[in-house]
Amino acid sequence: MTTGETDCYESTAEEAACSECGAALVDSQSCEVLFHTCLALEFGEPAYGAVHNLTVPAYYLQHPSLLSRRGWEEVRATLSAFLVDGVSVGEMRRRATETLDSGQRDFSFRTGEPMNLVDTIWSRTIGDIRLDDAENYRADIRHWAQAVLDDLSQYLPRKQEENLSE
Ligand SMILES: [Zn+2]
Repeated sequence: MTTGETDCYESTAEEAACSECGAALVDSQSCEVLFHTCLALEFGEPAYGAVHNLTVPAYYLQHPSLLSRRGWEEVRATLSAFLVDGVSVGEMRRRATETLDSGQRDFSFRTGEPMNLVDTIWSRTIGDIRLDDAENYRADIRHWAQAVLDDLSQYLPRKQEENLSE
């Protein structure tokens, strides 16, 4: 395995579940491998690539060990901007560039305080995505990304509410 061994997969005889998102993993497939398969499709064909802006945040939000706490919160805000506020990809890119150019980003997406997400039960995972057909793929990615946001709204208070309760 060239993508690096991780210890986040609890294996039984033939089927394993990802310890972060709970996806059922058959034949020692990992979420990481699935994710890279998705990315390859998205970069290879525009019909798949149309949902790239949702695939990446949905995957990272369900695998918080890949991110710092601040990074994770930022990714959640990004997915929410796409799905709840209807912000376009171009607009998000413009905002991100603006923040970077002005030196306003004072945190790292990957290093820093870790993100601990406990007792989150995910209703959909990357394991539910149908890869065979672009139309199915886009529909599944959209359902998955929306489910991730919905699941999080149940299990984690929004930032404002956290501040209020402190
Ligand atoms: Zn996973």
